[in-house]
Amino acid sequence: MMHSIKIFCDFDGTVCLGDVRSVLFRTFGGDEVDEAVRLWMKGEISGDECIRRECAAVRDLDLAEFNKIIDEQELDPSFPEFVEFCKSNTIEIEILSDGFYYYIERILKKYSLEELTVYANSLRTEEGKLIAGFPYLNQYCERAANCKGTHVLNNAGDDQLRVVVGDGYSDRCAVDYADIVFAKRQLIQYCRESNISYFEYNSFHDVQSRMEELLKRKRLNPRHQAEIRRREAFRIEANV
Ligand SMILES: [Mg+2]
Repeated sequence: MMHSIKIFCDFDGTVCLGDVRSVLFRTFGGDEVDEAVRLWMKGEISGDECIRRECAAVRDLDLAEFNKIIDEQELDPSFPEFVEFCKSNTIEIEILSDGFYYYIERILKKYSLEELTVYANSLRTEEGKLIAGFPYLNQYCERAANCKGTHVLNNAGDDQLRVVVGDGYSDRCAVDYADIVFAKRQLIQYCRESNISYFEYNSFHDVQSRMEELLKRKRLNPRHQAEIRRREAFRIEANV
């Protein structure tokens, strides 16, 4: 079977150079935010609980200042070209984030990339408070409020190779189901520990070069272990 390719990209620290969620909450929420994140990374609280605590730590939000920090964020300079590369090779691309539509859409718009498909958490303000919503909460996943594994499983077909590009804790569920993984920072360690082969990258320029090489191959095979994981997941979902 000839496979087409679908790429799933993390946003914070991957598509965007900075970790916007972290920058925003640490700026406006202080120490309580660090404590929530610490407990989450230790697996003591779930991803959505972490976000609820981060939001609760922000009081009397200065929305103008909040937006100003968002507007200072920059994308990986090679990302817009990468999107063009995907388009011209009919490769589908989606952004999966455990951050928020609020800033992702605002930043993508600045780069005229607002057409990209994004799956993230929602965020609204009410009387100086931040209130998060979790449209993709997976009750079986504690790692993230927006479980990226669910999207990688469901948003691609059997005839598609799933490629994941990421850097952090919330990308773990995604790489479990991915055929090809691009990893940097903490995600490298997870791939090593889990015996998942990966390409190390620094920017989307690296990802693009590697993808260009891969596209030249006669065939690209799914990763066997990921196929098994996907089959298991569907079996659990179907309850058989
Ligand atoms: Mg990240």
